Amino acid sequence: MVISKLVTPLVIPFLILFIGIWLRTNISLLPTPYLALINYLPYALLAVALVLCIQFNQLRSLLIALITSLTYLIIQMYLQNSLEENNTLTFFFLLSSLVPLLFILISWLPERGVLTVYGILFLFLVGLPIALAVYLSLHPSLLKSSLNYFLIRDWSFSILPPLGITIYVVAIFHQLFRLWRYQQPFDATVTAILIALLINFALFDQTIISVVIFTAAQVILLWGVLRQSHDMAYLDELTSLPGRRALNEALKSPGRKFVLAMMDIDHFKNFNDKYGHDVGDDVLKIVAGKIAQVTGNGKAFRYGGEEFTILFKGKELEPCIPHLEAVRKEIAQYLITLREKNNRPKNSKDGKQHRGKKRKPKGIYVTISIGVAKRTADLVTPEMVLKESDKALYKAKKAGRNCLVSAK
Ligand code: GH3
Ligand code: MG
Ligand code: MG
Repeated sequence: MVISKLVTPLVIPFLILFIGIWLRTNISLLPTPYLALINYLPYALLAVALVLCIQFNQLRSLLIALITSLTYLIIQMYLQNSLEENNTLTFFFLLSSLVPLLFILISWLPERGVLTVYGILFLFLVGLPIALAVYLSLHPSLLKSSLNYFLIRDWSFSILPPLGITIYVVAIFHQLFRLWRYQQPFDATVTAILIALLINFALFDQTIISVVIFTAAQVILLWGVLRQSHDMAYLDELTSLPGRRALNEALKSPGRKFVLAMMDIDHFKNFNDKYGHDVGDDVLKIVAGKIAQVTGNGKAFRYGGEEFTILFKGKELEPCIPHLEAVRKEIAQYLITLREKNNRPKNSKDGKQHRGKKRKPKGIYVTISIGVAKRTADLVTPEMVLKESDKALYKAKKAGRNCLVSAK
């Protein structure tokens, strides 16, 4: 569970990072004119990232791209000379600690369009501490000498002082927590970029390390932006299951043998009327979560409303039935506890009946009906199979619900 939630989303970002680091030795052998050009690669990628972030309305990724590029710019401009100078060292410390703190701040921003008042406000808000860091490092007398306490010079593991490393590690764990909790490609991107920056500071004295790491960081960011847009188009927002578009995509190449099951929550309209639409949404999420756990290599989709589809590729009908029955039984047995604020009766009559009684958390059960069909010589296209399983679903409803009917 933890593996699929934390490792899978990080595979591609880490791969990009490792390819970058791996190519470093080859790149450093390039003739100087090429090397000079390669220094501009992170900026070229920033331009692409900006266009995509604006196009796909991803303010948070845009801010991460800008800060990452700014860090690169500052390293290229100011930090190429000896770090022994006090100014440079202070600056380096401020910069390296500021970036992960800003990333934490940005990751909590709600996603609301780039070219809005809100978006521009946040550009300033994020730009302000960076400007302050630049200002302070140009006027080191303003900084208390106590700051030097954190700049332990003979620290050998990394050029970054221990406090800086701590801030990075905290930020990385914070991002991993978000990734585990919200499962957004954005959080995988930010985790990988933070690790990339940490590697950059740890290997700071290696030749061309910055250009390689920052190029990799921008590619990771681009991957994240595309991944996030892909998910927005293909995943259903409420349940996080793949939606109708993803089902249509999957049914373009279902293979020669496949089975399709249609599932529908029983009496869901009554349920909504009784408990309200919000509780209905919560129940949909829970039911979707159970359907997603179908075994036997079935892939679950939200077909629409309170209807779901499961596709089994390369399977005969009979072997799929136990897996579908397991889902149906699991849902029927699962006691759903309602949120406290939704326990209030919907009308005053119910309210009067309840008043005076001690309220305890309410639990409810829901059931689903299932219709299932397979591809046959007569049902050649996925549309025909889907129609057949819909007919079987109708029969399951007629047969009293909370049951499975398979097409002959
Ligand atoms: P049956 O057992 O015959 O399927 O009865 P039903 O009431 O479930 O069937 P019907 O298709 O008449 O009602 C489906 C209801 O599902 C209508 C709507 O209130 C509810 N519904 C559909 N989509 C959503 C949603 O996204 N959120 C919520 N809360 N309810 C939804
Ligand atoms: Mg329905
Ligand atoms: Mg229904």
